[in-house]
Order: sequence, then structure tokens, then C-alpha cells
Amino acid sequence: MGVCPSGSIGTLNTMIDKRHKEALIKIVGKGARFHCSMAQYTTFRIGGEADALCFVERLSELQQTVSYLVRENIPFFIVGKGSNLLIRNGGFEGILIIMRGELATIETDEENTPEVTAGGGLGLNALVTYCSQKGLGGLEFLVGIPGTVGGAVAMNAGAFGEEVEGVVESIQVLTPQGKLETKYRSELAFSYRNLSLPEKSIVVRASFRCVQKSREMVSRKVSDYLKRRKATQPLEYPSAGSIFRNPKNDSAGRLIEKAGLKGKKVGGAMISPKHANYIVNTGEAKAEDVLTLMGLARQKVKEDTGIVLETEIRIIGGKRESA
Ligand SMILES: Cc1cc2nc3c(=O)[nH]c(=O)nc-3n(C[C@H](O)[C@H](O)[C@H](O)COP(=O)(O)OP(=O)(O)OC[C@H]3O[C@@H](n4cnc5c(N)ncnc54)[C@H](O)[C@@H]3O)c2cc1C
Repeated sequence: MGVCPSGSIGTLNTMIDKRHKEALIKIVGKGARFHCSMAQYTTFRIGGEADALCFVERLSELQQTVSYLVRENIPFFIVGKGSNLLIRNGGFEGILIIMRGELATIETDEENTPEVTAGGGLGLNALVTYCSQKGLGGLEFLVGIPGTVGGAVAMNAGAFGEEVEGVVESIQVLTPQGKLETKYRSELAFSYRNLSLPEKSIVVRASFRCVQKSREMVSRKVSDYLKRRKATQPLEYPSAGSIFRNPKNDSAGRLIEKAGLKGKKVGGAMISPKHANYIVNTGEAKAEDVLTLMGLARQKVKEDTGIVLETEIRIIGGKRESA
């Protein structure tokens, strides 16, 4: 898998021209990459080229990038670790933004209540490790979810009966108008695997309420959760986690398994024999293989039970070809 070259101005015919490229390089310097294969930036290891990928390290850079893209009417999309994302093989016409550096730091306010504040680009496993070292409990359920803080807030990530909704205190959001807004828990419209925010809003930071515990207690819970994940999830293959949302009072995995689709393959994609709500990339899967399997699962479950499975993963891109 090649590393996307920084700063190079490629020749592929896309919707951004030389002037746009120069402007992006001016804002994010070497963080601007052009014609990037996105497969290496998603946990599915699938995805065509993005016209550009901007690694943004500072809030001011993020604000300038977003303002520029909005002004120039260029489509953009924020990517965390790409762990709930399917990018079609036709690629993404526009700019993908990934936050890191100062936008992926972490701090604690232990004065009154133990609260942890983390940048939207921080990986969840780094957040959990930090909390374990400090003896801060409450976020253990996030261990093993291979996303970022921003992605977890946007998706209301959850596991083992807990969700981000239950632990978030406030978030800082950058609006497409370039305004930085703080939103408190009571103002946030969370639902199952979703947070309703105005389109193109970016979660820049989030504060979580923790509970002071011993380091041993936190570490024990973390290890237990990791063990349970390993036993039930096909972690040996690239995937995007659960493909479908669980229907009310049921599990998408159970329904797909009952439909007899465990182990079903299309091209390089396979419905996991270990967990039927996971589609795994066995090597050379294309987005269309995954989409075909998704269609098959949806159709079979509907025929068998009348239940229509709703997609949990986010699917983007693909205009350049019919993937
Ligand atoms: C092996 C495996 C296990 C998983 N287990 C779980 C699980 O137990 N529970 C669970 O809930 N999920 C699970 N997932 C799915 C996924 O990890 C989560 O949904 C995660 O929260 C996505 O975070 P991300 O940073 O990778 O977001 P991405 O996949 O990059 O993006 C997902 C969505 O979030 C948006 N987004 C990302 N960052 C931001 C931001 N800063 N501001 C605004 N929007 C943003 C994107 O635009 C996109 O719409 C699993 C995935 C895998 C591969």
C-alpha cells in the first residue's frame, strides 16, 4: 500500500484545480495530499482515491480549511479512523479531512469532578489507556472500538450496554460557517448510533465525565472487555464493525445468521462466520462486493422476517465509476 505523497500536484482530472491545490498547501502545508488512495485510511482497507486528503493539526488550520472549502463550494467530509466507513472504489470527489496533532491531544480536569477532555482526532484506545493510567473509570466500554473521539461522538458509539451519550459532558463543534460552539449534554440529540448535528459540523473536542477508581479496577475491566471482543468479533480481518443497526429488541447478526448467510462470499468480501453482522475483507474486496453482500443480507432477512435492516456504516464516494 503506497503512502500518499505530500504536497504533490497531480494530473488526474478532478473537480479541484491547480489553484485549489495551491490554496490547500498554503493552509496545511505538507498535510495536503492529492489523489490519495483511501484504502489505507479505512479499517475495511477498501476505497478509491480522494481528490485530496488534508491532515489538519491545528484548530486555526481546520477553520481556514473549512472556510475555504465552503467558500469555493468544494465537497468535504471529515474522517476519523475510517472504522465505520465504506468508501466506494470510484473514490471521493472532494476533500477528506483528518485531524491530528493539537486536535488529538488529551487533558484532565481533576479539580472538582474528574473530567477528561480530548481532541476529536484522538484514538479511542489512547483515551482508554490514558484513563487506565490515571485510574479514571467510566470509559472502559470504548476499548477496542478502533475509532476516534470525534467519530465516537458523531456515531454515539457504544458497547457492553453503554454509549457515548451516557458519558459525554460537552463537545466543541466547528460549524461550516466557521463558528466554534460548545454544546452541553442536555443540548445534544443522541440516538442509537447517531448524534444529530447540522450537516458538515466537526466535533473538535469532547469532555467526558469519569469516576475516580483504582488503576487496577479500570485495567481489569478493560482487559475483560478486550477478551470478550476477541471471543466474538472477527478481528483477524479488516472490517468496519457492525454493518447494520440492530432492530429494536433484536440483533442484526442473529437475523443474518438465521438467514443462512454466515460465510457467504462475494468477490473478496465475506459475511463473517464468527459474527454475521460483520462483513470482512478477505484480501482484495471491492466496495461493490460489500454492497452486494449487504443487499443480499437485507433482502433475505426481509423475506424471512419482514424486518428491514438499516445500514449503520457510512458510505461515501463513487461518482467517478459505478462502484
Ligand atoms: C473491529 C471493529 C469493532 C467495532 N466495534 C464497535 C463497537 O463496539 N461499538 C460501536 O459503536 N462501533 C464499533 N465499531 C465502529 C466504529 O469503530 C465506530 O463507529 C467509531 O466510533 C467510528 O469512529 P471513526 O473515528 O473511525 O469514524 P469514521 O469511520 O472515520 O467516520 C464515521 C462517521 O463519523 C463522522 N466523523 C468522524 N469524525 C468526526 C468528527 N470529528 N466530527 C464529526 N463527525 C465525525 C464521519 O464523517 C462519518 O460520518 C467497530 C469497528 C470495527 C472495525
